[in-house]
Amino acid sequence: MKPSSPCPCGKAKPYAECCGVFHKGLAEAPDAESLMRSRYSAFAVGDIDYLVRTLHADHDDLTMPEADLRESLRRSARSHKYMELTILDREAPDAQGISHVLFMAKVFENGRNLSFVELSTFAHDGVGWRYLSGTSRPAPPKPSDLQTMRIASFA
Ligand SMILES: [Zn+2]
Repeated sequence: MKPSSPCPCGKAKPYAECCGVFHKGLAEAPDAESLMRSRYSAFAVGDIDYLVRTLHADHDDLTMPEADLRESLRRSARSHKYMELTILDREAPDAQGISHVLFMAKVFENGRNLSFVELSTFAHDGVGWRYLSGTSRPAPPKPSDLQTMRIASFA
């Protein structure tokens, strides 16, 4: 990814001034939505270290050996095309410091549409926002169906 290319997360900013700042470790993502965007971008640019680093210590994926986790992330990053990210809904952190983001990721693998909607849960670990868990389902076939999707009605 060229530093001047548009950021894969969909913000109208060059990669180097958007998620690239977080990938390089120059700053922590300031909120759950920014972390979510930067993780999507990390898949798009193949930054496996960032994907591992931003998993919350309690995330299920950390129960597998790290080499397996890295291989599985590498495989997804390499074989999938990350076309577009749409944030559908987000919530400010609750009293426990948990924050939710609902998004649609437009993803293709060899022309096969693997797009999905996911409700992600994030928590701050004292250093930065981290990805705790997610529930996903295939994206609805009609884009207009996305407009009514909200966190409260997703579960
Ligand atoms: Zn970005």
